Amino acid sequence: MVYDVIVVGGSFAGLSAGMQLARAQRRVLLVDAGRPRNRFAAASHGFLGQDGVAPEAVLSEGRRQLSAYPTLDFLQGEAVRVRSDDTFTVGLADGGAVEGRRLVLATGLIDDLPLPSMQMRWGVSVLHCPYCHGYEVRGRPLAVVASNPMSIHQALLLPDWGPTTLFTQGQFEPTLDEAGRLALRSVDVERVPVVELLGDAPHTEALRLADGRIIAAQAVFTAPRTRMASSLAEQLGCAFEDGPTGPYIQVDAVKRTTISGVFAAGDAAQGMHNATLASAAGVLAGVSAHRSLVLAQAAA
Ligand SMILES: Cc1cc2nc3c(=O)[nH]c(=O)nc-3n(C[C@H](O)[C@H](O)[C@H](O)COP(=O)(O)OP(=O)(O)OC[C@H]3O[C@@H](n4cnc5c(N)ncnc54)[C@H](O)[C@@H]3O)c2cc1C
Repeated sequence: MVYDVIVVGGSFAGLSAGMQLARAQRRVLLVDAGRPRNRFAAASHGFLGQDGVAPEAVLSEGRRQLSAYPTLDFLQGEAVRVRSDDTFTVGLADGGAVEGRRLVLATGLIDDLPLPSMQMRWGVSVLHCPYCHGYEVRGRPLAVVASNPMSIHQALLLPDWGPTTLFTQGQFEPTLDEAGRLALRSVDVERVPVVELLGDAPHTEALRLADGRIIAAQAVFTAPRTRMASSLAEQLGCAFEDGPTGPYIQVDAVKRTTISGVFAAGDAAQGMHNATLASAAGVLAGVSAHRSLVLAQAAA
């Protein structure tokens, strides 16, 4: 069967795209490998109506609602190859292949954390976003371990949640102007690099510095380098943008990529990463893919 649309990635962005297409009664296949970016966190925050709910619970309720639509199929698996002709043929890791007239890429990102001792604490006491998890650690000693120039911006925000120290790691020195603004926000600046997080993981109690000092911190914010979770956009020849933490797929205002018939949404296609924004982008990508099918039929 040739699907109207294949959506690759079945998390916040992909399920939202699939919902619009299924409600338009189009034949949709949703392929998902089951590794959403926030799977390390026990609770997802800030998503209206779902604040504090476990990420997997939000997504499984989404899948349950989508499964009521008869024109949508789910396929658990990984899309590893894509070929474009008149249609798109997507090759799967298990050797199978599926075909669709349009493609929505909602494949998300992978985080490369700056220190090995962060991985087992990721999503619990090592965090990427104060809006998502700052409220839960309010009032505690907070650290920003700098990983790119955006870390200074993160350190300027954080005092609204708790007393903050910026660790420059000896690499991300604030300019004079930034140092002035950090001082006005009462942010301490430490230049000796953090080498290890201490405490009973996944919790953090303190940070060990390269000179042996131990500094108290119960939550560590960092902006890891990000990379594409899937190479499909690259295989198709989509253009990319440089984001604050890594590359993302270039899309226009209605989520069209630079390749005709290919749409992209969510963290993979924007520089700001948040479940609500990913979901909203997925809605737009689904609607755009539907409109492009309608326009093609109306022009035939
Ligand atoms: C630790 C952590 C905690 C977070 N907490 C919050 C929070 O509290 N609130 C909030 O709003 N945001 C939070 N975020 C951000 C949020 O997780 C992302 O913005 C959101 O998950 C992006 O949704 P997405 O659908 O674009 O991608 P993802 O959720 O990453 O989903 C991508 C999906 O595509 C699948 N996939 C990838 N490649 C393929 C392939 N080739 N074939 C098939 N499937 C594929 C993946 O397995 C995955 O299921 C958090 C992020 C992190 C890292």
